[in-house]
Formats: sequence, structure tokens, C-alpha cells
Amino acid sequence: MQFQNTLSYAQQLDQNDPLKNYRYKFHFPKVNGKDVIYFTGNSLGLQPKNAKKYVDEVMTDWAELAVEGHFQAEKAWWDYHERFSEKLAPIVGAKPSEVTVMNTLTVNLHLLMVSFYRPTKQRYKIIMEEKAFPSDQYMIASQVRFHGLSPEEVIVEVKKREGEHHFRLEDILQTIKEVGEECALVLMGGVNYYNGQVLDMESITKAGKEVGAFVGWDLAHAAGNVELKLHEWNVDFAAWCSYKYMNSGPGNASGCFINEKYHNQKDIPRFEGWWGHNKERRFLMEPEFQPEPNANAWQVSNAPILALAPYLASLELFEEVGMPALIQKRDKIVAYLEFILQEIASEVGGDFEIITPKERGTQLSVFLHGQGKELFHYLMKNGVITDWREPNVIRLAPAAFYCSYVDMWRFGQVLKGYFS
Ligand SMILES: *Cc1c(COP(=O)(O)O)cnc(C)c1O
Repeated sequence: MQFQNTLSYAQQLDQNDPLKNYRYKFHFPKVNGKDVIYFTGNSLGLQPKNAKKYVDEVMTDWAELAVEGHFQAEKAWWDYHERFSEKLAPIVGAKPSEVTVMNTLTVNLHLLMVSFYRPTKQRYKIIMEEKAFPSDQYMIASQVRFHGLSPEEVIVEVKKREGEHHFRLEDILQTIKEVGEECALVLMGGVNYYNGQVLDMESITKAGKEVGAFVGWDLAHAAGNVELKLHEWNVDFAAWCSYKYMNSGPGNASGCFINEKYHNQKDIPRFEGWWGHNKERRFLMEPEFQPEPNANAWQVSNAPILALAPYLASLELFEEVGMPALIQKRDKIVAYLEFILQEIASEVGGDFEIITPKERGTQLSVFLHGQGKELFHYLMKNGVITDWREPNVIRLAPAAFYCSYVDMWRFGQVLKGYFS
């Protein structure tokens, strides 16, 4: 495709964008009285305008029905979380029975480790990527210590090669092969938060299963961003937060995938609570736990309805648009952003190295050679919201739902302004 770095060309791309009206379904912060150019949907998605209505509904039900809201509210609370399964299933490529929503991401990874990290004398190692998101590093190391083992002996990190910014699939597969029968678990980020790389989850899952390990994915940067086929790939478990590409609101609930193979397994270790109990009998307050025959068996506490409400609002937008349309726009707008970066770099003689490999989703991570943090502050002051990662990287994620091609062009103009 032959892009052009002009306003009229960007406007034409917007005109032809089937998703062009969706940006009006979101609230944009303003800087200098103008909507910002929002590149941080990978960190906190914008608020869907409908979210408030969904929260208000719960507030009204609570005011008018109080405890009766559990059963009498139009969207009753006792099974409120079940409304998510059908909507989340196509986003992550799962059967509805394999998906649930509960707690928050790191908490869910801990709960899933209870079921899927069961070290023995022979099989106890965990494979992950180096420099994983810090919470994942803390979570995994603390799980290892919980089992009385030492993180240094258990955790095997796949490393990037000297001078490279991305992981090589062959290195990951080789590590899995080498660890072999000692490998208890492969647990990695499906999309790397730092460089935006999309891992080949299908091949890695296959390799992990071949050595007899469990395979789980942290999909924080993948859910709502890239195509996922968790069931077909034979993934054992996965979890994701919903406040990044899923636009559910700050710190909001996490989604979980648990392969149906494990749903009725009697002896699977699991931390249990009453919301995982057979839902027809939940309020009989029986002494013995009878798990739900699906991913809901991993539920612990009664669901935080006020938090779930905006997530539901967001999911209705996903349901309306569907991942294929989002992915189609994603690829085009990211390619246009890449083009704009190259154009501006050549105009101003700058060196913006895109360290995101070609296996990418929405995010471009850009190494700003020769530039300091002032450039980042300048962008923020001029209404371009990005984020900064040491030593010298800005991450740009033009979310397909609400970013426009004109945003990309305007960003180029702001960036150019810094150098003139
Ligand atoms: C954002 C993110 C988290 C955040 O975890 P919370 O429990 O929601 O705070 C964890 N892991 C990865 C890979 C992330 O990108």
C-alpha cells in the first residue's frame, strides 16, 4: 500500500474506515481543549460512554432493591458473571464453558498456579521469558518458594540474543526441548508488554505439551488485541486483565480460560469458595463443595458487580464489532503509524528504531536514539499520550476501536515540531 503523509490522505483513510464511528462511543481526555491522541490503550483503555449507564443501573438496583437485587435485578447479581462467558469466548477462541471472569490478573495467575504448577522431584521447572512483566516475575518466584523450592533452580528464562530486541521462536522451542521432562510448566506473556512482540502461542503450546508440561498464557497485552484460539491450540489455562485493550476500567476484573479437560477432574488441586459451587445448590449452604462443571468452578467469592458493570458495557462493543474487524483496522493503522514515523525520521534526520518485530499487534515500541525523556514530556504537553520505558523507549498503541488515521498524521506533525 502506498501511504501518504498528508492530512487529506489520512482523512480519506478515516472516511473509508468501517469502524470510524466507534471513536465517538468513547470518552477522550482533553489537552488544550482538544481530544488527545491516545496511544496508551495498551495500558488503560478509554472509557466507553455506555459504561456509566451500566454502573448506574447497578446503583439504581442496589438503591431500589437492595438484597433483592441478587435475584430481582434485570441483570441479576447472583449469576451476573455468567453473562461474560458467551461474549469473551470468541475474543479468546474458547468455548463459553472454558471462560469466566473473576478477581484480578495476578490473583488469578496465583489461583491457576495452584491447579497447574504441581512440582515433583523429577518435574519441577518453569519456563518463562526474561524480563517478563514484573508482577509475573514476583508471582512465579513466590509460588516456587511456596513449594519450598528455589527460584534460581526452578525458573528457566528464555533470553533474547545479544543485540536483539525480540525473542526468537527457535530459542523458545529449543529451551523447552532441553528442559524436557523436567519442565512442569511453560508460562509466558502472549504479547510482550515491552517490545509488543506476539509470540507464536500455537507452536510454543504444542512444544510444551510434547514434553508433558502444562502450558499457560498471560494474555494481558493479547486479549482484545490479537487473534487467539486457546481451545484449538490446546492451551491449559490463561488469564488476562480487562483494563488494557478491553476498556473495562482501572484495575478491573480479570478473565480466565481453563481448558475443558480439567472441568470435571475430581482430584485437581484448587482453592475453592462458594461462587464455584454448583449454582443451583449454592444457597442451600451445604457443607460439601460441588464444583460447577465449567471454568466457574475456579470462582471463589461472590462477584464485584459494580466493577463488572463497565466491563460488560465494553464487551457489548466487542460483540458488535468482532475481533476480525478490529484486527483488520489494527494492521492498517499500525502500518500507517509506522509509515508516518519513517517519514518524519527522514524529514528531521532522526533515528526512531522500531524494536517491535513483524509479529506484532497494536503496539509499536520505538527506541529514540539520541533523544531523552524531554521528547516524551513534549509529546504529553502537546496532547500525545504515550508511555516511556527505560532506557529510551516510547510505546505507541493506536487502539483500533477509537484511534483515527488523522490522529496518526497529527502525531507526525507534533513529533516533527519537536525538531524544528
Ligand atoms: C498489565 C499486566 C499485569 C498487571 O497485573 P494486575 O494483576 O492486573 O495488576 C500483569 N502481567 C502482565 C504481563 C501485564 O501486562
